[in-house]
Amino acid sequence: MTETVAVIEGDGVGREVVPVAVDVLDAVGEFSFVHAEAGDAVAERTGDPLPSATYETVADADATLFGAAGETAADVILPLREAVGSFVNVRPARAYPGVDALRPETDVVFLRENTEGVYSGHEDRLSDDLSTLTRVTTTSASERLAEFAVEFAPEGFHIAHKANVMRETDGRFRDAVQRVADAHDVATEEVLMDAFATRLPLDPASFDVVVCPNLAGDVLSDLAAGLVGGLGLLPSANIGPENALFEPVHGTAPDIAGEGIANPAATVLSAAMLLEHLGYDEDGTRVREAVESVLADGPRTPDLGGDASTGGVGDAILGRL
Ligand code: ATP
Ligand code: MG
Repeated sequence: MTETVAVIEGDGVGREVVPVAVDVLDAVGEFSFVHAEAGDAVAERTGDPLPSATYETVADADATLFGAAGETAADVILPLREAVGSFVNVRPARAYPGVDALRPETDVVFLRENTEGVYSGHEDRLSDDLSTLTRVTTTSASERLAEFAVEFAPEGFHIAHKANVMRETDGRFRDAVQRVADAHDVATEEVLMDAFATRLPLDPASFDVVVCPNLAGDVLSDLAAGLVGGLGLLPSANIGPENALFEPVHGTAPDIAGEGIANPAATVLSAAMLLEHLGYDEDGTRVREAVESVLADGPRTPDLGGDASTGGVGDAILGRL
């Protein structure tokens, strides 16, 4: 392994949890790490939350591990997703043994379209009374997501949408995803996104992989996060054709930042996704199992009812490896 991994700690607890994940990557592989800055701290110093050197480091790397950015998050993460050409955000939400979850049987992966929908950026103020938003749906982006989905979930997946109301945009999305799935003989089941919001908490075991437009994926995956016991556990991947960026779902956690008690699990699990993305499936599995075993037996950080530090949990994960 000689791949280059860009590392951006960012702000808040990003500075505490990312070093743990880097130690884990270092323990299982031989990566060349390139550290870069982004977020509030560098913005205060230089006026720019995302220096061009950081953008280029990420674009040139084989993969990026990102922590979190504070106030400047939108100025950082949206361009960085673009730097890796990301078209899908992969968000697994899974309850782990030993963690107090509202719905322990939850094990769902969201494949969220990452470039368009209502996050297209096309908003207009037409008068003092009226603002509009243009919802963008392309067949090409929907098909690209679907091509990823059929490989990710050959055993089938749900498509969450609201094509009964947004007939043109979500209709196009649904039809494109369906067409690609049919061409690959992959089974799909449609679910209206509002009905999904009811069915998921009532019967999480009935869902496995869910393909969603951008906003639906954002909201529904956060709903799933609530079912599995907290933000400290959820990893995510922004995947592009030749590059990818991995980050915990949580943000800077300003209420606990600097105390050394942030749970590093979400970021270490993001590193496991990074390993798998680079083709090191066995190492990814090893890391995930090490995290699972520490979650089950402790030590645990305070968010999970324990009294261990970030470093204490990190050392335990490294010990299991
Ligand atoms: P931001 O604007 O950066 O997202 P936030 O105030 O929304 O900041 P989050 O990082 O989203 O904060 O966290 C929400 C809650 O979850 C906070 O109470 C935080 O302490 C907790 N939390 C988030 N990440 C972790 C973690 N890694 N370990 C423990 N608790 C966490
Ligand atoms: Mg937040």
